[in-house]
Amino acid sequence: MAIENVWIEEGCISCGMCVQECPEVFKMDNALAVVKEDVDFNEYEESIKRAADICPAGIIKFS
Ligand code: SF4
Repeated sequence: MAIENVWIEEGCISCGMCVQECPEVFKMDNALAVVKEDVDFNEYEESIKRAADICPAGIIKFS
């Protein structure tokens, strides 16, 4: 299944693990993780899924 959208819900604890796992898609902005713009998510499908798995707050979502 292709990933068309990636988003982060409220509750980020600023641990930075998503950025460590997939810096191509996630970045820190004012101490909160955000999804970078203009990224082809399908190139990074596996690491997006891993980031969602390891996020301690469980707030990384994709569809
Ligand atoms: S892994 Fe989750 S809690 Fe940690 S910075 Fe990323 S979105 Fe925030």
